[in-house]
Amino acid sequence: MSIWSLGRQGDPTSRGDDELRMIPQWSIVLAIVLFVAMQYVFHVVMPHHKHELLPLRLMMSYAWGTLLASYALLLGYVSRDVKRRGMSPGLWMLMCVVLPGGIGAVVYFLLRQPVLSKCPNCATSIAATYHYCPQCQFQMAPVCGTCHRGVKITDVYCTQCGHDLAQDGAPARLRSYSD
Ligand SMILES: [Zn+2]
Ligand SMILES: [Zn+2]
Repeated sequence: MSIWSLGRQGDPTSRGDDELRMIPQWSIVLAIVLFVAMQYVFHVVMPHHKHELLPLRLMMSYAWGTLLASYALLLGYVSRDVKRRGMSPGLWMLMCVVLPGGIGAVVYFLLRQPVLSKCPNCATSIAATYHYCPQCQFQMAPVCGTCHRGVKITDVYCTQCGHDLAQDGAPARLRSYSD
């Protein structure tokens, strides 16, 4: 069994929407609340002096509000992203909150694991580098029929052993590319 025999699952064109849906509603609400709270702090709570400049106060409140709002959205993104990569949500959320100035988030983006996908046959979580599902042998990526290393769908010959991939038929190559 292979991914090609089940038709076009996991259409890659839907990726952009998925990224937007990665920001949960609570973090959008938190971002708005933080932004409004900053305006309140700068314009109401902080004492007004006689000779201060209003534009400066407006700029400061806007800058701090935007900064905190972006941070809330970032936290929301990380909280969902961490799950689809099979990493520990508690640990990484703590890192992002505790480390100052967004350093935790930078560390997260440097160290995060590749996105896990699901086996279309048995729904086991699968890393992007797997060629076969470890639970049911479902083929996830095109491989050479002789040396079983990964090949590109458009390759005619295996780059490792020179095997003629047309002899394998599907799934080593997509049907539309085969003769
Ligand atoms: Zn499977
Ligand atoms: Zn080969």
